[in-house]
Amino acid sequence: AKNIAVMTSGGDAPGMNANVRAIIRAAIYKGCKAYAVYEGYSGLVKGGPEYIREMHWNDVRGWLAEGGTNIGTARCMEFKERWGRSAACKNMIDAGIDALIVCGGDGSLTGADLFRAEWPSLIKELHETGKITTQQYENHKHLNICGTLGSIDNDMSLTDATIGCYSSLARICKAIDYIDATANSHQRAFVIEVMGRHCGWLALMAGIATSADYLFIPEKPSSHKDWSDHMCEIVAAHRARGKRKTIVIVAEGAIASDLTPVTCEDVKNVLVDRLGLDTRITTLGHVQRGGNAVAYDRILATMQGVAAVDAVLEGTPEIPSPMISIIENKIVRKPLVEAVKLTKSVAEAIRSKDFAKAISLRDSEFVE
Ligand code: ATP
Repeated sequence: AKNIAVMTSGGDAPGMNANVRAIIRAAIYKGCKAYAVYEGYSGLVKGGPEYIREMHWNDVRGWLAEGGTNIGTARCMEFKERWGRSAACKNMIDAGIDALIVCGGDGSLTGADLFRAEWPSLIKELHETGKITTQQYENHKHLNICGTLGSIDNDMSLTDATIGCYSSLARICKAIDYIDATANSHQRAFVIEVMGRHCGWLALMAGIATSADYLFIPEKPSSHKDWSDHMCEIVAAHRARGKRKTIVIVAEGAIASDLTPVTCEDVKNVLVDRLGLDTRITTLGHVQRGGNAVAYDRILATMQGVAAVDAVLEGTPEIPSPMISIIENKIVRKPLVEAVKLTKSVAEAIRSKDFAKAISLRDSEFVE
């Protein structure tokens, strides 16, 4: 039997608790001991029973729907240093852990891959300096790791959805539904900023799901020379057809056709000055991260948790650092290094405004 640990790292996302619950229960079900590392990599670097706790079946009761992550998450600079990873390695060996499952974004998974790759040299060093016994050294020669993707942004390559993105989308839609009522009553316009960093998925999907009048995303600047002309034309046409409200969604990182940033303030000014609309800005902020996980995220997190336990138990020589994805409704293993590389290349292409490259990189995901 193995001792399997799970941690959550990076930004929290609804469904992370469901993922932790599934991993702990699948591990116990398969005859293993299950552990949770509290507070992300910083818990691993600090070590000891406060941060690395054995978890029993009942410890995760009621976690399936809960938002956030009950085992905590953190950004940890120490883990980016070799000494920090060496401390983490020693703490894991002291706790008897031989497999690690990390639920997080691309940064967290990069850290997990580096840790696995470095593991043999870390334990050799710990053995040579007398920090671990020969028995411990022999018992912990390999570290099996696996990543699961927890992020509201749905910005990772090589998966169709990340754990949390559909909950966040549902929350955004609900908030816009609330705003719709008041907008409609006063015939107002609302400019709504949504999260997503360099990824417009949340904004685009919310635009479709709430029938927004206009939207701005980072990946595709308006093809019209002047977005304000185009937006005013569309909004005015909608109003002329009797629509009493206007909703414009602005993603974080949205840009105009001249590639300059578009802010909610810019959009509001145009709606006020050119169309005379009574306009308010609503920045949804961290509400987008909160609340229960929707059914899809609970299911995704549960199925991926079970698949992650299988991956660390079976070992995956063909993929040294696997992550669990969902592609065309199938739960599959993918090399996390490739996914991170592709994700970073897409983000870089968007940052440098090379949209054709960003699109071709995203399309390349689907080429076998
Ligand atoms: P989100 O997408 O929500 O930001 P993330 O996993 O990308 O999640 P990061 O802040 O990038 O979030 O990473 C979380 C933690 O993972 C970092 O604080 C650090 O401890 C670890 N980490 C990130 N990148 C590396 C790296 N290159 N090497 C080692 N550890 C890393």
